[in-house]
Amino acid sequence: MATPPLSVDRLAEVFGPHRNYEPPGGWGDAARRPDALVKTHCSFCGMQCGIQLKVRDNRVVGFEPWEAFPFNHGMLCPKGVKRYLQGAHPDRLLSCLQRTDAGFAKISYERALAETARRLTAIRDQYGPDAIAVYGGASMVTEKAYVLGKFARVALGTKHIDYNGRLCMVSAGTAYKLTFGVDRATNPWPDLATADVVLIAGSNTAECAPITTYHLWQCRERGGRLIVMDPRMTPITRNADLYLPVRPGTDLAVFLAMLHVIVGDGLVRDAFIRDRTTGFEAVRASVAEWTPARAAEISGVRPDDIVKAAHWIGETDRAMGLHARGIEHHSKGVENCLAMLNLFLATGNVGREGAGCMMITGQGNGQGGREHGQKCDQLPGMRDIRDPAARQYIASVWGVPEESLPGPGKSAVEIMEAIHRGEIKALLSMCFNPVVSLPDAAFTREALSKLEFFGIIDFFLCETAHHADIVFAGSLQEEDEGTVCSAEGRVQKINKAVDPPGDARSDALIICDLARALGRGQHFDYPGGTRDIYEELRLASRGGLADYYGITWDRIERELGVFWPCPTLDHPGTPRLFADGRFAHADGKAHMQVTEWRESGDPADATYPILLTTGRVVSHYLSGAQTRRIGPLVDQCPEPRLELHPALAATLGVADGDWLEVTTRRAALVIQAMVVRTIRPDTVFIPYHWPGQRSANRLTHRTLDPRSKIPEFKVSACRLEKVAPPLELSTWRREETGWGAPASGDQRSDLPRSDR
Ligand code: SF4
Repeated sequence: MATPPLSVDRLAEVFGPHRNYEPPGGWGDAARRPDALVKTHCSFCGMQCGIQLKVRDNRVVGFEPWEAFPFNHGMLCPKGVKRYLQGAHPDRLLSCLQRTDAGFAKISYERALAETARRLTAIRDQYGPDAIAVYGGASMVTEKAYVLGKFARVALGTKHIDYNGRLCMVSAGTAYKLTFGVDRATNPWPDLATADVVLIAGSNTAECAPITTYHLWQCRERGGRLIVMDPRMTPITRNADLYLPVRPGTDLAVFLAMLHVIVGDGLVRDAFIRDRTTGFEAVRASVAEWTPARAAEISGVRPDDIVKAAHWIGETDRAMGLHARGIEHHSKGVENCLAMLNLFLATGNVGREGAGCMMITGQGNGQGGREHGQKCDQLPGMRDIRDPAARQYIASVWGVPEESLPGPGKSAVEIMEAIHRGEIKALLSMCFNPVVSLPDAAFTREALSKLEFFGIIDFFLCETAHHADIVFAGSLQEEDEGTVCSAEGRVQKINKAVDPPGDARSDALIICDLARALGRGQHFDYPGGTRDIYEELRLASRGGLADYYGITWDRIERELGVFWPCPTLDHPGTPRLFADGRFAHADGKAHMQVTEWRESGDPADATYPILLTTGRVVSHYLSGAQTRRIGPLVDQCPEPRLELHPALAATLGVADGDWLEVTTRRAALVIQAMVVRTIRPDTVFIPYHWPGQRSANRLTHRTLDPRSKIPEFKVSACRLEKVAPPLELSTWRREETGWGAPASGDQRSDLPRSDR
């Protein structure tokens, strides 16, 4: 049974998170005088800013700006500036581990491979290949995502592979494919600066994709207007000309009413609709009853502001939409995105400089990580796994019979549910921390405890790895080379700065070695390492929607990134999609989709009258497995607080700093209040980067969007009660977050961690 071998606090003592404040060698000569500067990219959000890492004695000791890189011009946010501190971190896994009754014991790489292969083979022989599932991460370079997808389908033969991008932008991706025929932002980010109007819907842009604000500021500098739609006045709202304080879960009503106004007030671009779209008549009919007054009743946004926003978008031919999880993390996340795209199509605002729609990817390689095969329904090149021609082509590239390729598998949350039901018996996970990031955290822990085998590849022992049987010490991004694709569709090069330390290995190498141990090594022979994997990926993507065939590593270096699709070596790449007048569907048209209103999956009622929404803060990244180990970032935000409006606080008799118990239909947690005027009075907010008793995902629910399978993180009904501060506060904090423990202490030496 994959239960943790020790208590959480004992494991945290050994493996962290501990805080690191200094580069290896301290702040002296080593940090000032590096041996080399390596140009690469920050991986803490989908912007993938250019950065130069300072390297000395095979260790990353600092960074320098990379001013020539065209996206960020040397600018970095707090995460990018401090990210390098995880390189030589004392929590870094240096060898493979095996769970024992007394903790985790060091084992050799060869033994870890053999044991993993033995256990997976036994489970496959007893229950069949679909009793094994694979999880991937969307922060990894694309080559790893590609080879992991191939490994699942060719070496294991399972259909169940999915990734943590399932918790990110899949609603947007599904909507873009349905409407435009392809899953990618339509424009490069600098186009934002050329727009007359930008609608930012459900994006905490300034905290989650901070360098994007530079492009928005440029837009404002030249007179562009900014509309922000969000239940919270996140920092970007300071720059807004119009703020729409939408109630969580009701974005769709606002979009439908805006289109109602656009239709009713003669703002539809008839020629664009006629020549470049299908489906408009049905969409027009579907918004007939959606008056601004009706939408205002549901959403809390004033009718006049809905009309104003619709007119701003409809009266210009340079309007852009920017959106993120705020409209996507819903059981109607796809509908929300479809309705937003309809606004821009109806007004002819797609396919030109300053006109289009863009999704912000939260994960470092959120875009590239979903294009090439670790998504449960796609093969490389963004090909549909159900498409016979796509299957035939990929089978030929991989040298396997088409009929041996599995069909579509379960999505990330569905895999965890199948584990809980006992249908899936084994899990192999790489760079994914579902204990923190999946909804309904107690359910996730229960499920993991039922696994017959659980293997993990990662560079820190994240909270999910507490449940593992075998842990492989994998690689940080700067220990590997490969490619990523930024949120704007630019394929970029990640350069290796240092070797993996100790007995840690490149993740891709581990996967290939594991395939050999499973007897499928003939399909994973890449003598040139990641470069060879990329060359196969280029070929596998050829002719697909995400066509990388014309993008070589040399070109990427020379041109500072190349935008896909890029089908031939002499093709310039495609920064702006649909500029030739054709969308990616076979008929060349955009397919406008009817959307239907429905309630959220966890609605408020008399018992749970408040709406809880979750998200990120600027100092932390995803599940916090990395940023909770970087001292300066932890100091900026050591633990979560619950944001609530003064009006709501007054009804509860709560002041800033008081303690509250938050209860949903699944669980309760105790948390300190932060009283702010920047949130709706019927809504509270908790960031989700922490595990255990501080985990916001203890409270969230597993309702999924039926098409994208994204969980509804943005709406959970809850109630609040003022409570006394928890007893033994300092002990409790250390147990749950590790933030109380600096890295310098060696209190860990008596514990069963033998790789130090
Ligand atoms: S904006 Fe994103 S990619 Fe750029 S430095 Fe910050 S976290 Fe890194």
